[in-house]
Amino acid sequence: MSVPCVAVDRERGEAVRTRLADAGVLDGDHEIDVVDDTIYLPVTEPSAVPAAFRDRVVERDPDERDRPRTPAEILGDEPSLERLGELVIIDEDDEDRAREIADAVMASDVPCETVINRASPIEGELRVRRWEVLAGDGTETVHREYGHEFLLDVAEVYFSPRLATERRRIVETVEPGETVIDMFAGVGPYAIPMAARGADVVACDLNERAIEYLRENAERNGVADRITAIAGDVRAVADEYADTADRLVMNLPHSADEFLDTAVRLAGEECLVHYYDIQHEDDPFGPGIEAIREAAGEAYDVDVETEHVVRSYAPHEYNVRLDVRLTRR
Ligand code: SAM
Repeated sequence: MSVPCVAVDRERGEAVRTRLADAGVLDGDHEIDVVDDTIYLPVTEPSAVPAAFRDRVVERDPDERDRPRTPAEILGDEPSLERLGELVIIDEDDEDRAREIADAVMASDVPCETVINRASPIEGELRVRRWEVLAGDGTETVHREYGHEFLLDVAEVYFSPRLATERRRIVETVEPGETVIDMFAGVGPYAIPMAARGADVVACDLNERAIEYLRENAERNGVADRITAIAGDVRAVADEYADTADRLVMNLPHSADEFLDTAVRLAGEECLVHYYDIQHEDDPFGPGIEAIREAAGEAYDVDVETEHVVRSYAPHEYNVRLDVRLTRR
């Protein structure tokens, strides 16, 4: 079938393609052809081609494209998307725009089964968000991170793929034979790779569904024999596991300070504590250090080994991590 195309020198191809896309005249249903030094950019309507290129319109017979390639090509602008396994996550208040993005994602080549929009902030003790399913169905997916697989349902458990690098940093410091207690373990993104490095891990979470997923994920990743998964309040296991931990992971940034007494109870002779916090930029580490010193009291020496900003959390607020070594006096 004959299609109008703008013929330009290959060198100028990308610049002209952008101009045609900006003018909304690029034809996404046909392939761009290159012959020798000339590139042929299919257009939908010759009269809508910017005047500078109108005398370059020729008729050709390019192949049809199966599907438009990216959501941006379909929408004409770049939507903000996040991938989690086969889920595509958007954060859009405008309902019409949200549906437009979801339709574009489903029509594109993005491998995706479901598009979901954030419907609430992260809420409550279990730190779970509500979601609106815009296309497809189901909010369960398999996320892959540094060679491990995590099955999870974003509507039932906390999970953030954005923290993958942060988790990696910590996991890489774990030695075989350590006893780790992950006090707020979720579906296991710390516990499972730590167990894979040879640690014996006690993983606790208040959210029963998170612990069900963690058990399943431990099986999937071949580390079930190194993980003890416990559903319930971590304060309730303090007696059973008292004085045992070589390492504690405390990833409950809004209220970890409320669990420092439990942490000190769980700590062994020497224990490295990864303490996550959210604080004002003026003093992002001070309150955490003070709270840890207070909880350690006379029982432990407290050495702050790392003060690390994980990410910006809100205007003037940081999500931070302290690595603190407790050594029994
Ligand atoms: N570490 C996991 C991760 O990185 O994905 C989950 C972190 S999420 C911010 C905090 C977790 O703490 C949630 O899964 C929540 O259910 C759990 N939690 C909250 N209060 C708890 C408690 N008292 N005892 C044990 N877990 C708790």
